[in-house]
Amino acid sequence: MKTSNTDLSKELKKYFGFSTFKGHQETIIKTLLEGKDVFVLMPTGGGKSLCYQLPALMSDGTAIVVSPLIALMKNQVDAINGLSSVEGVAHVLNSSLNKTQTKQVFDDIRSGVTKLLYVAPESLIKEEYQEFLKEVEISFVAIDEAHCISEWGHDFRPEYRNLKSIIDKIADVPVIALTATATPKVQDDIQKTLGMNNAVVFKESFNRPNLFYEVRPKVNIDREIVKFINARKGKSGIVYCLSRRKVEEFAQVLQVNGINALPYHAGLDQKTRVMNQDKFLMEDADVIVATIAFGMGIDKPDVRFVIHYDIPKSLESYYQETGRAGRDGGEGYCLAFYDPKDIEKLEKFLAQKPVSEREIGLQLLNEVVGYVETSMSRRQYILYYFGEQFDPKNGQGAGMCDNAVNPPVLKDASKQLITLLQL
Ligand code: ADP
Ligand code: MG
Repeated sequence: MKTSNTDLSKELKKYFGFSTFKGHQETIIKTLLEGKDVFVLMPTGGGKSLCYQLPALMSDGTAIVVSPLIALMKNQVDAINGLSSVEGVAHVLNSSLNKTQTKQVFDDIRSGVTKLLYVAPESLIKEEYQEFLKEVEISFVAIDEAHCISEWGHDFRPEYRNLKSIIDKIADVPVIALTATATPKVQDDIQKTLGMNNAVVFKESFNRPNLFYEVRPKVNIDREIVKFINARKGKSGIVYCLSRRKVEEFAQVLQVNGINALPYHAGLDQKTRVMNQDKFLMEDADVIVATIAFGMGIDKPDVRFVIHYDIPKSLESYYQETGRAGRDGGEGYCLAFYDPKDIEKLEKFLAQKPVSEREIGLQLLNEVVGYVETSMSRRQYILYYFGEQFDPKNGQGAGMCDNAVNPPVLKDASKQLITLLQL
């Protein structure tokens, strides 16, 4: 890969205006620029985009960025184009473009203006695009949200499966894969599917020391939640429910109790959904009661609590959903309610699914049960699940969970150990 041979910090300042790199960003970028494949596991908000945006801006040719969501791509493209005085530094390529627009994108790539080309995997399948991309200079390929490749991830997308063979057809260039999902199973899947076994792996800690974790039995839940929220008047929070009906119902319960709450789920019409989301972001509503449809790509730094009315389908989802609390480093209270009957319901739901999906679903569910029933440090449990060691006595965030504050009587420690070892 041909690049201008300058100090990376200067380039960072020049393009993004930042003075320092976050975490491993600098080494990641150096490694990619050396022509190696790179695999980045970094929690949400860690600064993954910059790991491919900066080297792309510095390199000759165009970097292909594979990303699953059109909305996310558009945001990034607008942001990059806003940083640059040159028109067309970043483009999205997809079938919604008309002939003239597509020609513009192709022209900008050919003339070397475009440094970042964002594509959804389903667009990359198009022969016409592949033929074109084969003929131009590609600097490298970035695969964002790479966990979409894996059925063990929380957002499996079958179109991600064929990426490897498509990329091979287009160019022989380094690949950088990035994800905020760090379970060893997903990691393994990504590396295998993308043929990245020789990639240099960068894994940052998934520990969120400022989050407090608590699990309560699901008893008098409505009253418990109202009490919890009332003790935090004016603070922002999210309540996750499994069903749309529950979302509507419980948003009303909160409203009746004088709490400024709004519902959010995919069944609401677009206008209401956007309005409710904006009100939450603009502090016109304190609490958003939502299904998991809420949250992807939402960056509100001062969410003070995330409540799970129903138990999530996997520990991975739980981590992602609770991760929306305390982004600014301030307080973040993560409270989950647990009723074994909810697990039965989820199991019944899974029973209708095809065998392979069912088996994966049941295992993921077992891991959630392990978490809610554990009497050890919840943080240690979550981090172990991500393949990370945590010292519950001295680690960062030690003491920040119900089990540390109120050690439960050890019911059956050996059983728990077995659950953990089976993860
Ligand atoms: P991720 O994709 O890992 O969730 P993003 O790439 O969206 O994270 O970055 C999260 C935030 O961090 C963005 O607002 C981004 O501008 C900011 N950021 C990234 N790198 C740096 C840096 N070196 N210095 C300051 N802010 C940064
Ligand atoms: Mg990202």
